[in-house]
This record gives sequence, structure tokens and C-alpha cells, in this order.
Amino acid sequence: MRRFEAFPVVVNYNIHIRKRAWPEEVKLHEAKEYVQERELSIKTTTTSDSTIENNLWKDEIDKFETRVVTCLERIKRHTIGRMVLGSINKQTTVWIVPRSDAELKERGNHSATTGPLRYEIQTDGSYARGAGSGDTQILFHPSFGDDVLFHELVHAYRYSYKKFSPMPYYVRTDRSTNTSNSEEFFAHHMQNMYLSQGNRKLGLDYTWGGNDDKNEVYDFMLQNVDTLMLLKYFLLNDPMARLAASRLDAPFNPFRDYKMLEAKFLENNKSLRELPAFGTMLSSRPALQSARRVG
Ligand SMILES: [Zn+2]
Repeated sequence: MRRFEAFPVVVNYNIHIRKRAWPEEVKLHEAKEYVQERELSIKTTTTSDSTIENNLWKDEIDKFETRVVTCLERIKRHTIGRMVLGSINKQTTVWIVPRSDAELKERGNHSATTGPLRYEIQTDGSYARGAGSGDTQILFHPSFGDDVLFHELVHAYRYSYKKFSPMPYYVRTDRSTNTSNSEEFFAHHMQNMYLSQGNRKLGLDYTWGGNDDKNEVYDFMLQNVDTLMLLKYFLLNDPMARLAASRLDAPFNPFRDYKMLEAKFLENNKSLRELPAFGTMLSSRPALQSARRVG
């Protein structure tokens, strides 16, 4: 188990403990003993495999923890990385624990996830553990890369201040309309700024993947008014978005460039004086026209 410098981030290899505890967690869940189930899950997340079998798993532990610390060091070398690491609520702890190779092979488990440790208990029998705040658990595999870990740290930052509350929004392309949510929007664009700062290709999500030109992404936003309104929502509601807008010198920075994007949008929507933040009623919305392209 390693704490990453003075940040409230702990890397903890616990695969063997977790595997053994899981049948017991399921048993408690099926018996509707939800509080005990959560206590066991917290204990599992915060206990190291070094505590069992006379530290038999030492090599695996070292290998995982060293690789994750290397990712964290890389994150720390970026201004935006230091902003996020330094902004996580110090009254909380982020626990980075491993996705096992077996989990990677299972369907739906080949991505990183972040959730609250003391999650809100669902009494409808579901295993959903995404609601809550405070300490968090990030399930991660070093092969996902430092930018993915950075993305998860953004979620952890939001949870640490009780701000994580996903609102659905629409993403429209020529061919389809998909739903995503505001928390993913924020984390994906923070991740893009992180990549942009390192002069790397933007890692846009599944809905508009493959672009590495910031103007293409900005054009996409101009065609999707929800995304512009989400930028405004985060500028008004999240200090990190404002910090990135004022201090972050990355080519891709939609928070810094928001005013330009809004002005561009309003050129085609002259009846509006400004765009409202996401979640605010917009009575004339059906009449909104997509703006012309940036580049
Ligand atoms: Zn995410």
C-alpha cells in the first residue's frame, strides 16, 4: 500500500482479498444485509494483499503499485494534473485498486471506474454503487494509461466534494442521437485538456471519437447546444473549470474558449443575448440554429 506523496491518494493492491470476500458480499446482499455488505466492501478496498499469507504476493503487489505510481508521477508533471491532484478534498481518500486480468477479459469490465466507498445503499436489490460522496475507489489497470487514470481522478475530485451528480444530455451526430451525462462530459474534456497539454492526440469518447483537431471538437460543440450549455454550467458551478479557464495553457481548452464559442453560436441565434447554463429552461430552444463552423 502506498500513499502518493502528500496527496490524498493511496494505491492498494488487494486482488486476492477482494476475490475471497466477493462470495460473502453476494451472500450479504442476497440476505438484504446491505450495511454489512458495504462495511465488508470498505474493509476489502482498504486492506492490502500484503497482510495475507505472509506477504506471498509481494511481487505482484510491487509491480502494480510501482506502475500506478509511475502514472501518478506522469500526471503530476502536467499543470492540469497538479490542479486535480491538489484539489481533491483532503478530508477524503482516493483508493486506487486493481482491475484483475480476469476482470479485463469479462464483458463490461475492461474499463476503469470510480465510485464512492461509502455508497448510498439501494434497497431495490440492485448492485448499483455509484451514488454517494466522500472517499472513493478507482478500479484501474496500468495498461489503461495515465490519461485514463487522470479522468478517474476528476470523478474522484467531484465525489470528494459531494458534487458528483450526473445529468443526462443528448449528443447528436448526422447518423444518431445518444445520451451521455454531465459528469462524463466534464471528465472527458478535462482528459482532453490533459492530453492536449502533453501534445498528445485528443482521447475523445465513443460518441465523437477519432478527432485530434481542436476545431473539429469545437465545431461538434457548436452543433450540439447541450455541450455549450454544459461548459457554462461547469464554469458557473465548478472551481476546477474556472481554474482551467484562467490558468491552463493547453491548445484544447473549451472552458477558456467558451466566450468565443458562445459568440459564434449567437451569430446564428440573434434573438438570444446569451446561452443559459445547462439545466436552465430555454423557452425558445426549438428555434435554435446550429452555428457555422470555427475552422
Ligand atoms: Zn468517466
